[in-house]
Amino acid sequence: MAMTANRLKGDACERDWIWEREVEAAPWEETRRLSVGAWERQFRRLRESSRFYAGKWKEAGVGNSFVSLADLNELPFTTKDELKLALDGDPPFGSNLCVAPDQVKRVYQTSGTSGTPSVLALTRGDMETWTVMGTRTYYATGIHEHSSVLTTFGAGPFVAGHTHFVLLRIGARSVPVAPGDTTRTLFGLRAGLADTLLATASFAQYLANKTHDQLGLLTHVVTGGEPGGGIPAIRDHIQKELGVTVTEVMGIGDVAPSLFGECPHQQGMHFCGGGHVWVELIDPDSREPMEIETGAVGELVYTALTREAMPVVRFLGGDIVRIEGTSCECERTTFRMRILGRRDDMFIVRGVNVYPTAILSVVGDFRPRVTGRARVVRTGTDTSIEPPIPIEVEVTGGHAADDRLVKEIEDAIHSKLTFRSRIALVPEADFGEAGYKTRLSRRGEG
Ligand SMILES: [Zn+2]
Repeated sequence: MAMTANRLKGDACERDWIWEREVEAAPWEETRRLSVGAWERQFRRLRESSRFYAGKWKEAGVGNSFVSLADLNELPFTTKDELKLALDGDPPFGSNLCVAPDQVKRVYQTSGTSGTPSVLALTRGDMETWTVMGTRTYYATGIHEHSSVLTTFGAGPFVAGHTHFVLLRIGARSVPVAPGDTTRTLFGLRAGLADTLLATASFAQYLANKTHDQLGLLTHVVTGGEPGGGIPAIRDHIQKELGVTVTEVMGIGDVAPSLFGECPHQQGMHFCGGGHVWVELIDPDSREPMEIETGAVGELVYTALTREAMPVVRFLGGDIVRIEGTSCECERTTFRMRILGRRDDMFIVRGVNVYPTAILSVVGDFRPRVTGRARVVRTGTDTSIEPPIPIEVEVTGGHAADDRLVKEIEDAIHSKLTFRSRIALVPEADFGEAGYKTRLSRRGEG
């Protein structure tokens, strides 16, 4: 490469392009040492104050002696359902609240898996830690002090507030717009209020389909909330139509709303939680530990090292990722990854794991007849599905009855993904909201 891409194109500012160089570019051994110390304090806190983990570990046969970070896999995993039970059994904060209730200074209600909201409690310290990790994350994407950022991140009441703390910390201009508010987004961008857009990949793709031209000063789109921004067919389309650079971010509700951020080299998202969150990679099927090394595919497991109010230990995040590298031209030493999909969305065809993100990669090639959105229709609860796999593909005007298109997509899926599918074309008006996330699978009638 002729020029350095440590910054976004056109960024001539003098500031270091790494927010916290002493952590983000530290030798791995140093991060490990920092984490070992934090875990010792966290383990003690959990032993003393978490009835949830005291009970859970006792049940799992964990003795009274200290379990070191190196032996973390001696402790059981924590699931989302367990956390929900711990909450419901002792409302409002549950049996994993490790501080006095008057130390809880912020409470979020997140979307629970079963429909009823789940509660997340934070101390002042927890809010600060979230902001620290979030600032590393968004700064890594190329958002600097001189950036003007139009943010459409709603994610319930959840990510939104967090993003504004982070942008304030960076010193960027913040232009908040409600999720899916196309009118204000387009007006704001065309008027030149912002050069950066934070949006779900679905919404960014929707804008790209709708406008096909440069929107005012917009040069940078940061996608989050779903895997789309890392899928070449979607990313390339947004970049080409809007004339922008796309980078992506990711977080996980029970751990931190922003934890991974992709740098302008666009080679996957850097882990940005060093010293505060410990990450393990496990085999998605056997759940045995795996090495975090280039090319490894597994599920990420999170342990909160410094969280005060509701720390999680070995939390199963449900995201299946591929490790893209453990170093980077940008000088960060943290590993980089891309999301292949949610464990819940994965299905098995004749013994082979398939993620709906792979289907999006194939479907995207059929623009402009399709919008780029698609989803698998699942019936029953089996992970194994017999082909043909029913898939709904969103199409643009006039193509809802295009039998040739059906055949072409079915053939492409067969040749690229090696399974047979049954494609149903769905007009834009019927596919559902494009303003926020697109679910990659839906339940059909059995
Ligand atoms: Zn990098």
